Amino acid sequence: MTAHLITTPVAAGIHLRCGTPVIVGVAEGLLARVDLTPLNRAGEIHALIAGLQTYTLTRHGLIHRDAGRIAGTSLAKAGPVLAQHTCRRQIPAEHRANTPPPARVATTGNCPF
Ligand SMILES: [Zn+2]
Repeated sequence: MTAHLITTPVAAGIHLRCGTPVIVGVAEGLLARVDLTPLNRAGEIHALIAGLQTYTLTRHGLIHRDAGRIAGTSLAKAGPVLAQHTCRRQIPAEHRANTPPPARVATTGNCPF
């Protein structure tokens, strides 16, 4: 890897045109600005059909998802899939990644055993 293809840590920001919160970082040498909503497989396909780039958010930064990375397993559990930001794009609920339900907390004052 050369110095031109760097990946930088991401930063939270606000898109100046629409005021939407976004994540910004350099992904392998290219500036990437992504929405905060994680996508499931259907959501990623819809984003790609719409001409948007998709990225995996890792603790090192954004990783661009090309065809090989999407089909492969190397990024399967690396982090959430995020789509390139476009202003006023609404992501339907069925395209959002499922988030695990919150852990159940005992609400009664009774001892469970
Ligand atoms: Zn915007």
